[in-house]
Amino acid sequence: MSTLILGGGVTGLAAAWHLQQRGEAVEVWEAADSIGGWMKTLPWEGGHYETGPQGVLWQKGTTVDRLFSAIGLPFKSPGTGARWVGKGGRLIPVPASPPALMFSSLMSLGAKLRMMGEPFMPVRDGEPEEGLSAFIERRLGRGVATELLPAMVAGVLAAPAEILSVDAIPKLRQWEATGSLVNGIRKSGVSHMVVPEGGMGQLPICLASKLAKVHTSLRAERLEVLPGNRWRVTGGGESRDTDRVVLALPAFEAAALLGPVASQSAEALAAIPYTSVDLWHSRHTPLPALKDSFGFLIHPPEGRGYLGSLVPSWMDPQSAPAGFMQLRSFIGGAFGKPADLDSWEGIFARLKHWIPELSDAASVRHERADRAIPRPELGHRARVQAAVGGLPAGVDWLSNARFGPGVRDILEGLESWN
Ligand SMILES: Cc1cc2nc3c(=O)[nH]c(=O)nc-3n(C[C@H](O)[C@H](O)[C@H](O)COP(=O)(O)OP(=O)(O)OC[C@H]3O[C@@H](n4cnc5c(N)ncnc54)[C@H](O)[C@@H]3O)c2cc1C
Repeated sequence: MSTLILGGGVTGLAAAWHLQQRGEAVEVWEAADSIGGWMKTLPWEGGHYETGPQGVLWQKGTTVDRLFSAIGLPFKSPGTGARWVGKGGRLIPVPASPPALMFSSLMSLGAKLRMMGEPFMPVRDGEPEEGLSAFIERRLGRGVATELLPAMVAGVLAAPAEILSVDAIPKLRQWEATGSLVNGIRKSGVSHMVVPEGGMGQLPICLASKLAKVHTSLRAERLEVLPGNRWRVTGGGESRDTDRVVLALPAFEAAALLGPVASQSAEALAAIPYTSVDLWHSRHTPLPALKDSFGFLIHPPEGRGYLGSLVPSWMDPQSAPAGFMQLRSFIGGAFGKPADLDSWEGIFARLKHWIPELSDAASVRHERADRAIPRPELGHRARVQAAVGGLPAGVDWLSNARFGPGVRDILEGLESWN
């Protein structure tokens, strides 16, 4: 069986690796001039920055651990860094354990007491599809849904929790299915953020180094069905006949290719919205308060388009030159971006509002992540079902819009795929 995988991001490369492990003939086409998609670590004056993921959630003996061991990818964990939520004009620590939450000023006493009742809430079978905020309100209470959830979700999906489907974070329903979220989390254990040595971009590089055929600068432009349910893919002056085509592409790219051969799938995929976000990387004099810190997220009504900042130099000390702390600030997303957040001056003013002792930046760079993050709005489940259900024999679609937003979701989805 021959498979042509379109898309050399982490999804396409990890899918190719799984198929090759089973002895199948696999080839990957990547449109850009380098592999990795959003997962790239790029050099920056004495260090580096990440274009996409900052780290991946890891736990011993689970999917990510198995993959990293199998491909021999060394990684490190910075441990459990301090996190804050910006609310009421100040940064409030996110408690590291549920008991500590009882003493936190993040939520009212009533909200905390209601949250404690989560294990006793009845389990729903998941139909009809619920909104993300509604799900959290049902399980954990309105306080968590309105006071804590919005910042957490903005930090992952750069979108308001109220418009999203519970399927935006697939783990939630998996945990609920065990009886309660508390039980699900306890059973699945605690995960840590890890970063491969040299940055996240080493994961696609390592995967590609194990694959026989990975082509860059080769964009698939057309799919054609051949007799016997075989497929012809053309693009960039090349043509391949293959038993199977796997579109490891964002939904809108997959929709464009599928239009002429699978209109139901193409329509459903085209209806999945994507969010753009602006990323500002900056280097400053290290601050003791942020020394062992993952970073902070801002409660969206107060952030007004400033979603929060992470501390990549804590997660990956090689990212910044000695004597510097590196920040990565997230701007805009589906919340929109007021004019003051178009320039570093405006963003620095917002940063100073939350961390008054922050020094001027020694260097700054701006990257725009255009249509980078799927936005699983309510109705996402039906769109994904229609998209996958309408695929012709010999064609598949793999994506974070199908498996979940994080790298761990994708890798877990791929392990049970096919
Ligand atoms: C700013 C940002 C921060 C993130 N942070 C985290 C994080 O900290 N932790 C985490 O777990 N996840 C994070 N994520 C999510 C994670 O990065 C993504 O889920 C993952 O990288 C998606 O990989 P992919 O291969 O599915 O898609 P992509 O990375 O989009 O790859 C798709 C590839 O397909 C190629 N392509 C497109 N059209 C064609 C065509 N016609 N023919 C051939 N090739 C084509 C593209 O060039 C691209 O390389 C983040 C994402 C972003 C954008």
